[in-house]
Amino acid sequence: MTEELRQHWDLHEIDEQAVTREAALAKHPEQRRATESRLATARSALAALDHRVAESAKRRRVLDAEIAAYDAQQKHFEQQRLAVTDQKQYEAVEHEIAAVRAKRDRLETEALERLEAEEREEAARPEKAHAFERAQTEGAAVFARLDAEEKTLRAEIAALDARRAVVAANLAAPARSRYERLRAGRAGRAVSAVMNGACGGCFRGLPPAALQEARRREKLLVCDGCGRLLVMPPEEGQAP
Ligand SMILES: [Zn+2]
Repeated sequence: MTEELRQHWDLHEIDEQAVTREAALAKHPEQRRATESRLATARSALAALDHRVAESAKRRRVLDAEIAAYDAQQKHFEQQRLAVTDQKQYEAVEHEIAAVRAKRDRLETEALERLEAEEREEAARPEKAHAFERAQTEGAAVFARLDAEEKTLRAEIAALDARRAVVAANLAAPARSRYERLRAGRAGRAVSAVMNGACGGCFRGLPPAALQEARRREKLLVCDGCGRLLVMPPEEGQAP
């Protein structure tokens, strides 16, 4: 294997490792979003429950005030009833009392129904609060794991970048700029390994003559499919 091929093979190995790590990093934002979304769902379920209970209690305070007002009206009519002098007046006052009672009863029924509903909500609250706490704990663990992973991956990528710079600096200027251009234009992979007679980058099969040439490991070939540089891995078919 020529020195030039060896250098490109080294770059290939560095780039494959870097690409794998970049791909792992690229999945992090989605993992973070999914965790944040679970947390937000649990938080809002609890907040919605508290909001419903608070609104219902507020409405009950209004109902209690209205019920008290009807009670006062009823007392007022009962006082009037004591002073009536004939049957017609008596019936009129009785009618008023019945009407007030009916309105009061409707409000009281609503207040009771609300109270029961609030009690059911309160009974369901601990489970929702627990689910939220669990989501917080699990979320914190996921974020801590992703933070640690990210730190490791970035450090590894930085080390690979440094190694690449050293190897690339040894290439002749035209070879170096070709490599850099290909790496930028082909998703971080400028060099493909020849695997099973095909390009490891795009899987296009090499014509027999090109394959023969690749096996000699004397010069860089270019893949007809993806334009990457092709190198036969050193260990396979190494000439005795
Ligand atoms: Zn290819």
